[in-house]
Amino acid sequence: MQDRTYTADAEPGDHVTVAGWVHEIRDLGGIAFLILRDSSGKIQIKFEKDEMDEELVETGLDVSRESVIKVSGDVEEEPRAPTGVEVTPESLEVVAPADPELPLDPSEKVDADLSTRLDNRTLDLRKEEVQTVFEIRSDVLRAVRDQFRDYDCTEINTPKIVATGTEGGTELFPITYFGEEAFMNQSPQLFKQLVAGSNVERVFEIGPIFRAEEHNTPRHLNEATSIDFEGAFCDHTDAMDVAEGIVKAAYESVQENFGDQLEELDLAEDFAVPEGDFPRISYEEALERINATGELDEQLVWGDDLSTPAEEALGQDVGGHYFITDWPSEIKPFYIKDHDDDSELSTGFDLMHPRMELVSGGQREHRHEKLIEGFEQQGLDPDQFEYYTKMFKYGMPPHAGFGLGGERLLMTILGLDNIREAVLFPRDRQRLSP
Ligand code: ATP
Ligand code: MG
Repeated sequence: MQDRTYTADAEPGDHVTVAGWVHEIRDLGGIAFLILRDSSGKIQIKFEKDEMDEELVETGLDVSRESVIKVSGDVEEEPRAPTGVEVTPESLEVVAPADPELPLDPSEKVDADLSTRLDNRTLDLRKEEVQTVFEIRSDVLRAVRDQFRDYDCTEINTPKIVATGTEGGTELFPITYFGEEAFMNQSPQLFKQLVAGSNVERVFEIGPIFRAEEHNTPRHLNEATSIDFEGAFCDHTDAMDVAEGIVKAAYESVQENFGDQLEELDLAEDFAVPEGDFPRISYEEALERINATGELDEQLVWGDDLSTPAEEALGQDVGGHYFITDWPSEIKPFYIKDHDDDSELSTGFDLMHPRMELVSGGQREHRHEKLIEGFEQQGLDPDQFEYYTKMFKYGMPPHAGFGLGGERLLMTILGLDNIREAVLFPRDRQRLSP
């Protein structure tokens, strides 16, 4: 629409055409107000019944909430209006009427339950707070991309339909590919490594990962967005530096571009850009600290994975972002390299937010024969992964990287209770549409 003005740009003295949704109508008798909402904000439309064309007044005040209308008129200053200006309509057109029975009312003060909201996401997204979450999501992804470019990374896109999963196992969604069994990829891991081994060297990808995990938790999705990094000639400490830089860049961008809105909207009450270096705590120290909190029924011993309560106890103890390093090799995947001086200890790391895991990464095993051994130890058939392993015979440099959950990043930045709040159309055990 060429001649359309966004409500936020309407200045006193302008003659404008605004278009958007009917947010609210307040009829005070002789005078009535219609609040029109668009992506930029809201504006008041004033109806003085005795002074205006009867048909125009009737059309404007009979229209149902959430109908789309187009209004032309002069903008005047009005300190009592929500945005300090109002439009006196000369013409008003109902572009798309809304059924008066709304499954969810975007102007309602009381929240509908999450399931109703997700079933009617279009209406849900008309709420300012919900819209802002997705504006911030877009901003975070832009900030992450910019930061990766600062690290000399090339953005890549790898296949999501694959013949074998990254780590095999029950987490794969099988599909039929021209009569053959194939899978939705659970991670770009193997592909990003294959590209890091080329002259491209440093790569990142932002794309979907598919996990057929059975559990239904507030921090797991069956389709999530992974922010991946892989860099040739990097070790695990370099990868940790990059992960830390990416997470901080996301926070800084939200602070800069949405700081005021966060306060206005009561979103992210505890929002704070992380300060200082993220502490790097070894797995061994993590166990000691968790055990010392006395929060767990049973003491953790070497080799245990960290349960959710264990992560929470440590998160409370540390009180900010932190890394867990030097995991036992046996609980990290085969493609993670062990320390040269101790084969029981891996270079794998996790980056944790006090509430949950955000990142897993590490230096990769780049020696062909060791890689094959790793596959066998993990009970995987190396022949099935020949497309991957053979490239380790032709000059594969040492390399390292990580995967960062995009929705978990947004969820922890904004203090969202449920990861589904960070996805437009979540996929979980109960939800395959919309
Ligand atoms: P968790 O133990 O929390 O289930 P994970 O160790 O299985 O995670 P990784 O395979 O290490 O996950 O994936 C790297 C990152 O991708 C995780 O740290 C997380 O941020 C994100 N991620 C993984 N699985 C999911 C999922 N099902 N839903 C949302 N994000 C996920
Ligand atoms: Mg992990």
